[in-house]
Amino acid sequence: MKALVMGGGMSGLATAINLLDLGCEVTLIEADEIFGGRASSWLDSDGDMIDNALHVFMPYYVNLLSFFDRLGISGNIVWKDSEFYYAQKGGRMAVLKFKRLPAPLHAVYAFMNLLKDYREVPRWKVLASLGPMGLGVLLSMRDMEKTDRISMESFLAKWTSLEVMRPLMEPAINGLTFTPSHQVSARVMLNWFLKMFVSAENSRIGFANGGLGEIWVDNCLEYIRRKGGQVALGKAVTAIEMEGGRVTGVKVNGSESMTADLYVSAMSPYSLRRVLPEKAFELAYFRNLWRFQYAPSLSIQIWYDRKLTDVDVTFFSNDCVFNTYADLSNVLPHVFEGGTMFEMVISPADAVQGLPDQTIADLCLEQVKVVFPAARDAAVKKWRVVRERQGVYRPYPGMESFRPYQRSPIDNLYLTGDYTRTHVSSGGMEAAIWTANHTAELIARDKLETCADLNVEYEPYERLMRANDSMDLLALLAALMALFLVFRRRRKHRNL
Ligand SMILES: Cc1cc2nc3c(=O)[nH]c(=O)nc-3n(C[C@H](O)[C@H](O)[C@H](O)COP(=O)(O)OP(=O)(O)OC[C@H]3O[C@@H](n4cnc5c(N)ncnc54)[C@H](O)[C@@H]3O)c2cc1C
Repeated sequence: MKALVMGGGMSGLATAINLLDLGCEVTLIEADEIFGGRASSWLDSDGDMIDNALHVFMPYYVNLLSFFDRLGISGNIVWKDSEFYYAQKGGRMAVLKFKRLPAPLHAVYAFMNLLKDYREVPRWKVLASLGPMGLGVLLSMRDMEKTDRISMESFLAKWTSLEVMRPLMEPAINGLTFTPSHQVSARVMLNWFLKMFVSAENSRIGFANGGLGEIWVDNCLEYIRRKGGQVALGKAVTAIEMEGGRVTGVKVNGSESMTADLYVSAMSPYSLRRVLPEKAFELAYFRNLWRFQYAPSLSIQIWYDRKLTDVDVTFFSNDCVFNTYADLSNVLPHVFEGGTMFEMVISPADAVQGLPDQTIADLCLEQVKVVFPAARDAAVKKWRVVRERQGVYRPYPGMESFRPYQRSPIDNLYLTGDYTRTHVSSGGMEAAIWTANHTAELIARDKLETCADLNVEYEPYERLMRANDSMDLLALLAALMALFLVFRRRRKHRNL
């Protein structure tokens, strides 16, 4: 069985590997000059590693982690402590630190720890808002699907104080979804909370131990070549040809024809909808591709001549163009030696994407000085703004129902990629791998008369309920009691 995989991002690479393992003859074509799509990296002319964007891994990326295991590259992820730093004006740091405590005590501890130094909103207001919000999150999890109808902002307004919780959450919401809270589906964020909520372990974050191009893409390409697969760069699919309910071939770079028995699109929805024939849009399945709206992001790397911090996990900041970032000289000291190298994600980037690189860099440099005063005396060695291969789709309320299933109504056409249907998330690397695995599972069943069991189902809600049946329910009660006591003590203290 000959398979043509169109698009060499994370999902296309994983699909090619899965199909080779199932015994298909695979050709993987990619429009760009490098493989990896959004999860890629390269070296600049100074030999410095440039990431397409800062990527973090989470322990609940169970399918991605087992895919890395299959390739023998799990050691290419460095795991850090469960800590998220809120860098505030004047260099004040507040830390959301998840201790290894039974759930949900770990979350209560983390918030209490954050509140010690968090000054954006009065502490008592945060404490008073946490309880109702926790309750709202727990109750809504049972009916997670329904929460896709409302925005995260509406969800927060229903359960707690918007004024209090928005500043706390907005950097994470923007960093994770590239979409502000008033536009993002509540389901998307609750899905994420749920995973963080079930165990302290889940809030650890991992970084690629080097560039993703090197630690992930190169290993995939080596595997594909070793198994006899063909790969080619600079081959943009420009038309998908269909007849009699089947794909009959594709046009590449406008003129070259390629044929196969089955075709997998691992391209973005924006590319795919441009190359499908008009008649495909008679089907709602393909028409829905036009509902996907692009949420832009940018990435910027800044090298300083000295250390501005020794923190080796991610930072969040409010009121900065960048909201999620890390000092990679601490995360990967063997790669980025010397002074701080901040790698920042600017998301959503609607407001700045039209500005010249220099203006964006100047904005970031000024804002770094506000949250890291040591930067005022530091020299900037260089900076790079990365605009290519950016963005995700905007997970507006209601978008879940428009994500296409991997088996299309066209007999020999399958769709994969992080935007296609999966319950794991609205996008991201775990979604890219889950959808690649599911595509191969379907092809095995539909075309190869065999069975492939590739995806592991991770059930955080069941896990939480199982855990809470026993000891952890006590932990929850103890946590709520502790919250109440602290709150009372502080009010008393204030009144004295
Ligand atoms: C700034 C940023 C930060 C991110 N951070 C994280 C993170 O911390 N954690 C996380 O899990 N995820 C993160 N992601 C998301 C992650 O990068 C994606 O989920 C993942 O890379 C998606 O892979 P994909 O294969 O589905 O899509 P893509 O990587 O978009 O792959 C699609 C491929 O198709 C190719 N293509 C397009 N058109 C054609 C054509 N006509 N012909 C041939 N080929 C074509 C493209 O060039 C591309 O290589 C981030 C993304 C960005 C942009």
